[in-house]
Amino acid sequence: MQNNGPTHVTKTYMPSKEKYQKYVNEIFESSWITNNGPKLQELEKRLANYLGVKNVILVSNGTVALEIAYRTLGIKDFAITTPFSFVATTSSLVTNGIKPIFVDINKDTYNIDAEKIEDSITKNTSAIVPVHVFGNPCDVEKINEIAEKHDLKVVYDAAHAFDVKYKGESVLNYGDISTLSFHATKLFHTIEGGALIINDDELVQKARYLINFGIQNAESIPELGTNAKMNEFEAAMGLCVLDEIENIKQGRKKVVDTYTSELEGYVKFQDIDENVELNNSYFPIVLKSEEELLKVQKALNDENIFPRRYFYPSLDTLDYIEPKQECKVSRDISRKILCLPCYPNLVEDKQKKINQIIRRKL
Ligand SMILES: *Cc1c(COP(=O)(O)O)cnc(C)c1O
Repeated sequence: MQNNGPTHVTKTYMPSKEKYQKYVNEIFESSWITNNGPKLQELEKRLANYLGVKNVILVSNGTVALEIAYRTLGIKDFAITTPFSFVATTSSLVTNGIKPIFVDINKDTYNIDAEKIEDSITKNTSAIVPVHVFGNPCDVEKINEIAEKHDLKVVYDAAHAFDVKYKGESVLNYGDISTLSFHATKLFHTIEGGALIINDDELVQKARYLINFGIQNAESIPELGTNAKMNEFEAAMGLCVLDEIENIKQGRKKVVDTYTSELEGYVKFQDIDENVELNNSYFPIVLKSEEELLKVQKALNDENIFPRRYFYPSLDTLDYIEPKQECKVSRDISRKILCLPCYPNLVEDKQKKINQIIRRKL
């Protein structure tokens, strides 16, 4: 099937239609379609258990999860973050009146360079917002140490880090809050959706008010909230996808193993710490130059194959960023990095073709 149509960088995973229809029937019978419904409650419990975290708070998308995290923690003024991410990491700060201060990335891990964070801290810094880029955990221990020393909040944008483990434990347990995205293109999805992972029970309570207009009960509205609720149809999709998660993971592992063995020595791979268990969400390759990247991209496009330039452009180049900043490493990597098609049912022949084209064009 995919041999004829275009091959994109991701492909939405569609779980059992029969199971989803069964859930839809239940939702119709109950007419409880949103507002902390039974499917949502079940998914929160099952996810917490599966991921090995204390609390999962489901919300309507990953961007709003970041915004709720900042508001839960009272982050203001300036936050240190990475210029090498999806735009939502930065735009969510700016729309909440928080100025992003970019610290450049490590050229091999593509994560914020923890060694450089302290140089950028001032008395107006209230938080660090790092990203586990492509699911590769940041230097969580060093970041933790810096945050404690300077009394800063830490929000990890963990949109890529579903089920990633560091030293045998979920990486989502680091920081004050970690956020996830369950958008259709992510490894685990709920059509649109996201989550906050929070250990502290008081903060959990506050976040739950914030996603529901700040309402505590019929008489009390203790917080300035918004509407960030996930509905029952989305939660039902999540339950269906979660049932098939082992298949998804195995399928991705196979694809990543094939790329790794066939492209080793031809292109540069992301450096992964030996204590990390990845989720194989993405397969980024770094080429020698932007020129070489454009050549490879064109050759693949000619065959109806569409890798993506994740992440491009580097976020420190955005027009709406004030004050102006320049992160040389991030700009350099963003010009040379390409994410190859990576999803569970990528056809083997197609993958062979991708590898051949890349090797031929270098
Ligand atoms: C996908 C993604 C988001 C945004 O999530 P949505 O659910 O699409 O709003 C934020 N940060 C990163 C790093 C992402 O990849």
